[in-house]
Amino acid sequence: MPKKYYCAPFRISKLKQSFLAVLCLTFFSSYIPVSATPQPEMASYLNADDLSFLSNIKVIRKCVDPNRMPLEGINESSQHVGVIADILKFVEQKIGIPIKLVPTNSWTESLEKLKARECDMITSDAVTGASLDYYQQTVPFLHLRNAYITRNSSPFELDFSAIIDKPIGIPKNYPTIKLIKAHYGNVNLVEVEDTDEGLLKVSQGELYAFTGLLPVCGYSMQKQGLTNLKVAGHVDIPVAMVMGVRSDMPQLVQILNKTLATIDQRTYNQFLSHWIKIEYDVKVDWKFLAKYLIAIIIIAGAILYWNRKLGQVNRKLDKANAELMRLNETDTLTKMKNRNFLSYKLPELIKLANRNHLSLGIAMLDIDHFKRLNDTFGHAVGDKCLTAFADKVHEVFRRESDWGIRYGGEEFVLICLGVPVTEFVQGLEKLRREVASLSLQLESGEKVVYTVSIGYTFHTIAPKIWDENMIIEADKKLYQAKSAGRNCVVG
Ligand code: GH3
Ligand code: MG
Ligand code: MG
Repeated sequence: MPKKYYCAPFRISKLKQSFLAVLCLTFFSSYIPVSATPQPEMASYLNADDLSFLSNIKVIRKCVDPNRMPLEGINESSQHVGVIADILKFVEQKIGIPIKLVPTNSWTESLEKLKARECDMITSDAVTGASLDYYQQTVPFLHLRNAYITRNSSPFELDFSAIIDKPIGIPKNYPTIKLIKAHYGNVNLVEVEDTDEGLLKVSQGELYAFTGLLPVCGYSMQKQGLTNLKVAGHVDIPVAMVMGVRSDMPQLVQILNKTLATIDQRTYNQFLSHWIKIEYDVKVDWKFLAKYLIAIIIIAGAILYWNRKLGQVNRKLDKANAELMRLNETDTLTKMKNRNFLSYKLPELIKLANRNHLSLGIAMLDIDHFKRLNDTFGHAVGDKCLTAFADKVHEVFRRESDWGIRYGGEEFVLICLGVPVTEFVQGLEKLRREVASLSLQLESGEKVVYTVSIGYTFHTIAPKIWDENMIIEADKKLYQAKSAGRNCVVG
């Protein structure tokens, strides 16, 4: 008799692993306690009625499922073997009465023999909820779940309900037939003789799938060398294993229940590990993985593409904003800075100049008798004069730290940072002179000339904080220049 039975190596996807882990845990942790060592004497947990019943019957006849290894089976020497056989050996020793095997060739035959009272009990039944007149069930002693097996080439189906239209094999008369039909409704169940036959039919393509208890299926797959099969998923119904006793022996049900209730976890573990060792050949479902990888690559690509696009748009936006800022600081007619520059940019520049101990020159410039010029030659000519004047300011004060600002109408402010006072004053004087020598030739042949008056102040070191009052100081000097007869520089 082989000491160890191995389930066939299963081909399992990553997703199935968790299911199998749960299934195995369920399997290995699902028994009812019995004491570690059976007592040879009559068990003390039985009452007088139980004991008298046992002494009368002398022997209990059991019918088993001959083909449900590693749970149970009949070996070549016609002995009952497997997990359930070991449990019954234990029970036998506990109650002190032999439990004798009545050999059968199938589970169906075992049921028939029980019905015909040729045996007193069947050993591996399942709770179905239905009551049968010819036998009674014990309390559950093992809780299992059904797996379903398909060919390796079949697609991965996580849910049993996805395949219920296809022909699914199940051993004839198995109580799980009722449970599956109750849970899933119209399932295309095809009854086969036993697990071996069912799995062989799946392997040969006669059935789409086979459903049965996982360790039983695994054992059969390995025994038959069916390497083209895989555990595809589980059937979502718990299977509570019980024993069945002929209905005219209610006392025996009581005795079995009491005895099964004495089995402890450790003993049960020993029974299981003696017969079941599941080895998983974990294979990666590359097709499944590839689908996810492709999806991830597409999503990442899309994100990357949109990021690039967004980057381009942002750069354009930055450029447009800079242009907007520039326009916002620029006077459209003269292309000089406007008062926005004075309010927002200049305070920062002055602070910087102060930190670097740079000087600050401020000049107020006002074109003389500009109203008269406008009145004489028209507004358009006046505009041309304003533009020519601005160009002249930029020409004379051309350093990066010189800023000509149109303050309003024909009035301008000039800011020069880090320039010596003499250079500043000389520049202003030069500007005045060169403006006076500008002449605008009109189509009529007339020449337009004009002058500018300039007032200025000078700070050897720029103040910490910009104050528009500093312009007022320069404006006062401008007023003095106007009073002094115009076309002059006063500081
Ligand atoms: P003063 O020498 O005392 O400065 O006399 P003024 O005539 O130059 O000064 P006033 O303030 O009396 O006149 C300024 C004129 O500038 C009035 C207005 O028509 C003109 N002006 C203001 N803005 C513009 C402009 O954008 N274009 C033109 N063509 N003229 C303008
Ligand atoms: Mg003026
Ligand atoms: Mg003016």
